[in-house]
Amino acid sequence: MASYDYDLFVIGGGSGGVRSARLAAGLGKKVAIAEEYRFGGTCVIRGCVPKKLFVYASQFHEHFEDAAGYGWTVGESRFDWTALVAAKDKEIARLEGLYRRGLENAGAELLDTRAELVDAHTIRLVKTDTTVTAERIIIATGGTANPHAALPGHELCITSNEAFHLTELPKSILIAGGGYIAVEFANIFHGLGVETTLIYRGQEILSRFDHDMRQGLHKAMEAKGIRILLTDIIEEVTQSPAGGLTARTKTGATIVADQVMLALGRDPYTKGLGLEKAGVAVDERGAVIVDAYSRTNVPHIFALGDVTDRVQLTPVAIHEAMCFIETEYRGNPTSPDHDLIATAVFSQPEIGTVGLSEEEAAQRFDEIEVYRAEFRPMKATLSGRAEKMIMKLVVNGADRKVLGAHILGHDAGEMAQLLGVSLKAGVTKDDFDRTMAVHPTAAEELVTMYKPSYRVKGGQRIDG
Ligand code: NDP
Repeated sequence: MASYDYDLFVIGGGSGGVRSARLAAGLGKKVAIAEEYRFGGTCVIRGCVPKKLFVYASQFHEHFEDAAGYGWTVGESRFDWTALVAAKDKEIARLEGLYRRGLENAGAELLDTRAELVDAHTIRLVKTDTTVTAERIIIATGGTANPHAALPGHELCITSNEAFHLTELPKSILIAGGGYIAVEFANIFHGLGVETTLIYRGQEILSRFDHDMRQGLHKAMEAKGIRILLTDIIEEVTQSPAGGLTARTKTGATIVADQVMLALGRDPYTKGLGLEKAGVAVDERGAVIVDAYSRTNVPHIFALGDVTDRVQLTPVAIHEAMCFIETEYRGNPTSPDHDLIATAVFSQPEIGTVGLSEEEAAQRFDEIEVYRAEFRPMKATLSGRAEKMIMKLVVNGADRKVLGAHILGHDAGEMAQLLGVSLKAGVTKDDFDRTMAVHPTAAEELVTMYKPSYRVKGGQRIDG
């Protein structure tokens, strides 16, 4: 039998890579994990975690305003971008340390280097230009921001990577895209006092979400002062003579801004990885093709997380890693379950969602019932803030199963997590109806919508 330097070699120290390496090492396997940048990956280092810290930072000016309605007088407030970035960097460094220690304590070997495949069992460590061999290999290199190389002037633009490290807060920003990152950063920058414009090619932001969430968020963002341009794209970005950047759009608009940020999706990060040398197949986007068990066409090489372009979410990568361990090292073949993934958009207001949108459900089922509530949250009464929460349940008329739950408003992400458990368990509308409300909360609305707002039958809306 061939002998290898390692039982498992993991390329990429992000969410999926770290989890698989740590668990495999904990089971006594000889494991190495290589990371070319920083352990923790996109989520921890320049994604979900610092983003959420920025979201918190950007909410304070509204908190200060709201306080007045509750009897508080808040003194003059000032915001210091450099202080925020420094505090964020400190926290990210702490988390990276935890990731490293978790791996070390489990007995995995950490390699701070880029790693590339030389053949199906051999990996080159770029820093030392040495090679090692492994019985099994996991590709967990994640994704990179789409640089939109076809756009003249793209090199003048930033992506989310740079947004976390700007030396100064811009006075104005133009953000291209209508997905998670564009919408979240538009709200962050606006909340920090930046004049913010969002430009999106489609009819409405957040194309894959329920229409009530999309329209409700759009309205709320515009009411705050974020400018949203739809059915338009940037065609060219140039340096303005007076400083800053000028973007020319397809419809002929000219937008001048200190920064232009591209948030146009993320591509699988496989370039130069040597996949072809190992015989690993990729699709036209460069994503590693895997089967239901995250196995590539080379039986001992696996791929997890964003690099496979299945569902680009941290918890999904972690789940895929845990399934890999069950399948390969615990003798319990387990394929990741990608159905009913609850998710949140940390816009302001937030969106929390799980399951089918009304549009998707109406296409798949003969008759659906839609329960919808739109109301002013209690906190907004005394603060006087004009804001609305939207809650929505999409139910299959035939068996009363809840197919989708969608929330726009404070803590929507927190609620989505619990709704995710319910929908996963196959909850029906009758279960919601016989659940006692928690009062006074916003979430109680979910269990007190007794009558459908409308039905959709054969694609036609039926009111009453
Ligand atoms: P998304 O896929 O969410 O959005 C990409 C946006 O770019 C879409 O609006 C898309 O339009 C638009 N777009 C793509 N190509 C072009 C183009 N050539 N010209 C103009 N517009 C274009 O990607 P993000 O970059 O926002 O985020 C990447 C992934 O990261 C997300 O899919 C998500 O899974 C994950 N993420 C999750 C977060 C969370 O859980 N809260 C937060 C941030 C990221 P269209 O819709 O028309 O295709």
